Amino acid sequence: MLEIACPWCGPRPEAEFRCGGENPIIRPPLDCSDEEWAAYLHHRTNPKGLHRERWHHALGCGMWFAVTRSTIDHTIVETAPLGSAAEEEA
Ligand SMILES: [Zn+2]
Repeated sequence: MLEIACPWCGPRPEAEFRCGGENPIIRPPLDCSDEEWAAYLHHRTNPKGLHRERWHHALGCGMWFAVTRSTIDHTIVETAPLGSAAEEEA
């Protein structure tokens, strides 16, 4: 089980959290092509190595935040509030 450090509550067991998938996912403009819209809805990067994700502290403070995690060994490199300078640089 992972131990995830919520930026507001500190380290907590993974069972308190819910993963919201890749972060960020940039929404295309409304006049985009069907292919661009399909890619936005369905295509994710799924890298081998560091991956940026969005997590929700569902059984804690209820806040969403960014996690940088290795998909190889699940090591969490960093957590940061969404939209923070640390999250933007990750
Ligand atoms: Zn929290």
